[in-house]
Amino acid sequence: MTDPLRSSAPKIIAVANQKGGVGKTTTTINLGAALCEMGQKVLIVDLDPQGNASTGLGIEIEDRELTTYELLVDDAALEDVILPTGTDGLHLIPATVDLSSADMELIANEKRSFLLHDALRQPAMDAFQFDVILIDCPPSLNLLTVNAMVASHSVLVPLQSEFFALEGLSQLMLTVREVRQTANQALRIEGIVLTMYDARNNLSQHVEADARANLGELVFDTVIPRNVRVSEAPSYALPVLAYDTASKGAKAYRALAEELIKKNDKRAA
Ligand code: ADP
Ligand code: MG
Repeated sequence: MTDPLRSSAPKIIAVANQKGGVGKTTTTINLGAALCEMGQKVLIVDLDPQGNASTGLGIEIEDRELTTYELLVDDAALEDVILPTGTDGLHLIPATVDLSSADMELIANEKRSFLLHDALRQPAMDAFQFDVILIDCPPSLNLLTVNAMVASHSVLVPLQSEFFALEGLSQLMLTVREVRQTANQALRIEGIVLTMYDARNNLSQHVEADARANLGELVFDTVIPRNVRVSEAPSYALPVLAYDTASKGAKAYRALAEELIKKNDKRAA
């Protein structure tokens, strides 16, 4: 990621888990903001028809004229869909509820799984010089999530520190395997990050121990604590790093960004 030879190809990471409310959008926004603080240029692709990443970054619905829907369905040009956000270095392709019909509309399209892959590889991408692209996936293993996995180098999985957290993982891993076999052989698991962790709660500790025992190296050392500042930040249209820079949540996302970069540098070495 910090390869000095990097000319134009950004690292693309899908943030995915078919469960809703596990911290995908929160992780996308705040990991993105933390990478920006470290000097990286980041693009967030809102691939959820709920548009929470767009709202959380302060892009009002009336300002979402061209969105991921137009990018996927109408071949919109990258330079027309990418918007700056209030965070330096952080850009967004927004989403609206329009995206919810893409699944059905694309079913007859032969390239339906490759639309995001191809869209993010438009020649115009080079000029933006993004270091990282984070894709905020919907809470489903549908065609949109498959598009994200086909387009990506890796998948980052937020795992809520709650009972049954690990149950859905095998289904997610199955989808990753299918994508590897059919469309994107090189797809890796970037890692699994425990979210909404409450150190005083036995259950959180249990889930963590379980995850580390079963998934080993795949689990990030960094855990994201449950922190009210994290949940307040989106209503101020800010990443928690800007809303309360000294909060536990902000510090945890900075640590996650550092760990992610370190892991990638190690792999590249
Ligand atoms: P998803 O995108 O997977 O559906 P979200 O990121 O939207 O999940 O998170 C679900 C809810 O949990 C949101 O209201 C969010 O503000 C809250 N939340 C996420 N992470 C934390 C955290 N670390 N501490 C407190 N609340 C959190
Ligand atoms: Mg979400």
